[in-house]
Amino acid sequence: MNIILFGPPGAGKGTQAKFLVKKINGFQISTGDILREEINKDTEIGKKIINNMNEGKFVDDGIVNSLLKNHIFDPNKKEKLIFDGYPRSLSQAKNLDILLDQSKQKIDHIFFLNVNKETIIKRIEKRKILEKRSDDDLDTILKRYDTYIKTTKPVLDYYSKNSNFQEIDGSMEIDQITNKIEAFLNV
Ligand code: AMP
Repeated sequence: MNIILFGPPGAGKGTQAKFLVKKINGFQISTGDILREEINKDTEIGKKIINNMNEGKFVDDGIVNSLLKNHIFDPNKKEKLIFDGYPRSLSQAKNLDILLDQSKQKIDHIFFLNVNKETIIKRIEKRKILEKRSDDDLDTILKRYDTYIKTTKPVLDYYSKNSNFQEIDGSMEIDQITNKIEAFLNV
């Protein structure tokens, strides 16, 4: 079973991805984590992306897509992919379709965790204290949210017609969201 968790920064995608990892014995494919690892390891890619990441801007599609490809084609992860933070734009959604097609896979569930701006700001300010992420200050949060609003509408239009698309109120408590997701999974 492959799953996409979709929603603004701070919607709780990472938290729910961790639940799903256990539930379906899956692999969390967080492009944010994958990119942060490149920065932490100070790789050539890390050096290229650090400014965009710190400013809350998108990292270049070519870089994200190539890092993602390794995971999709990893035989151990086949049919156990939990996408968290990808796709974020229509071109990424289309790229994902191509990669899934090439690797003979499909998406079983798309969960859209919908949260308003005020809730996001509150949650990310809390996360800043806990995780000490350099892109969690208020200015960057607002920039990331604006980027999300600009680029995601086409992605929502692209996915919302699918029968496997489910919108969930992401402002609910973590357990309530988990229960909703679990009910849709039917496993
Ligand atoms: P996240 O951990 O998902 O909130 O992502 C943190 C940052 O990583 C984003 O603000 C972007 O700079 C970058 N990033 C993560 N996923 C993507 C993606 N799919 N496309 C472009 N940039 C991304």
